[in-house]
Amino acid sequence: MFLAAPYAAARQRGDERNTFRSLYTPEYLAFKKRIMAEFAGVGPGRFSEFVRHLKIEKSGDKEQKVLAFTFDACGGKHSGYNRKLIDYLRKERIPATLFVTGLWIEKNKETFAELAKDPLFEIENHGLMHRLCSTEGRTMYGVPATRDMGDVIDEMELGARKILELTGRRPIFFRSAAAYTDELSMKIAERLGMEVVSYDILPGDATHYSAKTMSANILKGARHGAIVIMHFNHPGWPELEAMQLAVPELRKKGYIFMKLEDFSVKS
Ligand SMILES: [Zn+2]
Repeated sequence: MFLAAPYAAARQRGDERNTFRSLYTPEYLAFKKRIMAEFAGVGPGRFSEFVRHLKIEKSGDKEQKVLAFTFDACGGKHSGYNRKLIDYLRKERIPATLFVTGLWIEKNKETFAELAKDPLFEIENHGLMHRLCSTEGRTMYGVPATRDMGDVIDEMELGARKILELTGRRPIFFRSAAAYTDELSMKIAERLGMEVVSYDILPGDATHYSAKTMSANILKGARHGAIVIMHFNHPGWPELEAMQLAVPELRKKGYIFMKLEDFSVKS
């Protein structure tokens, strides 16, 4: 039986402190303690994919329709690299925002460095350990979640620090695993200087839709300012083929593509 939002609080502590030991500095632990004290007694609020819906404001040419392609790299068992998709984005000069986890970076260090150097791509924070962000340990789809506020801070802040350490740029956007967060997590992200990003268009790569269906979903959902979510960590998934079908049609309709950091955004 499928249980909606079961609790993950009983999960054993993982080995994150070993994998990412160097990030748990005395300075960080003191910082984390301060943040936890600031939010002590605040309730978790709603837990959903759309705790806040980031909107892209119209800017520049009023006739120009803009779409944001975002691709996640989740990590753990799913630490592959869809090089053909990235090659296509480069060939077609399609700017994209890449949400990466600390776990994925660990397994793809050279690739990550190469992507981070490319101005076509914006690197953003998909969390240190790919956890759904719930301050009370709720989860969805069987994806491991944070167990408490401390885990949420680790996920957001250490994910950001990992990226900063390697790229010199601190992420400004955060998307948790499966895009699920509670309202308190969203406030914590703000306190840490990041905006929680969800999506507008879900083409369905993670539900194993065909390229044709995914392309149809993109075209159906396309409107000015929409954010598309797909992945670039599964070389066997058909995001490339979906893009090859959808992009020429979108261009015919007058769409251009932008990274999230290049939009003026409001929530
Ligand atoms: Zn993910």
